[in-house]
Amino acid sequence: MIQYKKILKENRLKITPKRKGIINYFLKNNKYATPFEVWQYMKNNFKKIGLPTIYRNLANFERIGILTKIEGTGNRFYYGLCKLKNKKHHHHVVCILCHKVIDFDICIFDKIKEDIENKTNFTITEHQFFLKGMCKNCKGGKV
Ligand SMILES: [Zn+2]
Ligand SMILES: [Zn+2]
Ligand SMILES: [Zn+2]
Repeated sequence: MIQYKKILKENRLKITPKRKGIINYFLKNNKYATPFEVWQYMKNNFKKIGLPTIYRNLANFERIGILTKIEGTGNRFYYGLCKLKNKKHHHHVVCILCHKVIDFDICIFDKIKEDIENKTNFTITEHQFFLKGMCKNCKGGKV
């Protein structure tokens, strides 16, 4: 929790009970969730909280690097907690069975950027690299 409080402070966002509640939800669950699921949980503690508030906070958290947004099928999307402590450029892999999110700071994009730019005559300003798979536990836990 301390690292997330730090990120909030750095981005001049107040550490409110609601914001702490959302982060706690992700810390406890250790898997990605829809805004609706976060809302269901938050309603237990904050009776009058609305879904728009949840959306707004999740979007803010994504912007400042506390959460990562995960595209699902159709128009569904999820959020998962970003656990990397430094702000290093990184990507995520999610488990298709238990919905756990893991960070990894390996990126091959720089190696192919120039080739792609030459081929397309674009200047690439952003990239996404998103992986799905099965985590160690779900594979059968060969430790
Ligand atoms: Zn991350
Ligand atoms: Zn798993
Ligand atoms: Zn990258």
